[in-house]
Amino acid sequence: MQLYYADEALSKWNEIDELFEEEKQQKKESIEAILDKIGIIEPYHRDFAMKKVDEALEHVKSNWQLEKEQRIKPSLWWKEVAQAQAQNPTANTDANTPKLSNLSADGKAWFIHPVAMIDYFPKSEILFQKGDKHEIIREINIRLAGFGGNVPTDEFTERTEKMIKQFQRDYMQVEETGVVDIQVIQAIDRFQEEYTINNTIWLQLKCRCGKQCDGFGNGLGKNTSPERFNKYEYPGLHRSLLFGFCALNFYLGRQNVYKFREISSGYRCSLHKEGKKTSNHRGKALDIQFNKGNWEIRHRLYINIEPLMYIRDNFFATYLNTQEKWANSNLFSTELIGLNKDNSIIDSEHTYSWIHMDVRSFEKQYLLDEYFCTDATTLNKEKLITLINK
Ligand SMILES: [Zn+2]
Ligand SMILES: [Zn+2]
Repeated sequence: MQLYYADEALSKWNEIDELFEEEKQQKKESIEAILDKIGIIEPYHRDFAMKKVDEALEHVKSNWQLEKEQRIKPSLWWKEVAQAQAQNPTANTDANTPKLSNLSADGKAWFIHPVAMIDYFPKSEILFQKGDKHEIIREINIRLAGFGGNVPTDEFTERTEKMIKQFQRDYMQVEETGVVDIQVIQAIDRFQEEYTINNTIWLQLKCRCGKQCDGFGNGLGKNTSPERFNKYEYPGLHRSLLFGFCALNFYLGRQNVYKFREISSGYRCSLHKEGKKTSNHRGKALDIQFNKGNWEIRHRLYINIEPLMYIRDNFFATYLNTQEKWANSNLFSTELIGLNKDNSIIDSEHTYSWIHMDVRSFEKQYLLDEYFCTDATTLNKEKLITLINK
């Protein structure tokens, strides 16, 4: 153990004083980078953050002056000082002072985590909350549909509140307020960018009939009820369904075992060879396949059933709030999963190498043509921040 006596320790402290300025600059740079990343662009917000760094630094500095007076003079060893602080890292913090300053065991670093800066922004004003009604709320209900399930309504419902809370808890990792403020708006824009549907997946989503259809049918058939027997070729895939898929990918991304593999079937028009059996896939359904580790869950094999059920229960049902089959309105639904032990099919209602998810149980008002999309532009539309600033 290296020991410092008073004068040695004092020079050590002074050395650290000099490091302050240097580290402050580095800290500011890393905070600027974080602000860029999370999309905080308003100059007054950025100035505010930089001012907080200065304040934090002053706070740390003045505490250190005190340390020097009180602790170095009685000839305390450096390491002891550092260790004492390391063991009690929140000693100089309370709700009103910056919660950053600590000596590390080597006595050099002071610490302010850039992400902690977010706490210093003034509480944002509420843009939307329960009971409100707005076209932007409809967009939020669509774009966050995968966080607990939702329908494209312009109303901020109980369900919207739950959805916002789930999004805050899981994606934003902030306090669950259940209201929409500018941070939520920016986070939704970020979520959309991060989990965007790429071109490879768009190809998988399109109808592969190889006939006179450019991917999403020809609008054939009468739009009728109930949905189960509706032959109408909707003009694309339902946006809430696709955003549900985006959220699924977010949740899958939080672990390393189960991975999305491919969309084995998206749109199937009336000309598709399997398009006659069911009309669900005319815009309202996705068949999704997965890997478990290096194992590709595919083909008609009984061993697929267990991992598929696991994925259904622990991702689809847990986070997207899917129901099995279609008993309740306005939920995402999955088809039954199952196969006989000899790998033979139980019936056409059971899937065995994919998970089928659909919006068939949505009420007609939530299945309007305008909710269906055909590419990234019609899925994503404008950023929420753009809509807010209009
Ligand atoms: Zn087709
Ligand atoms: Zn299907």
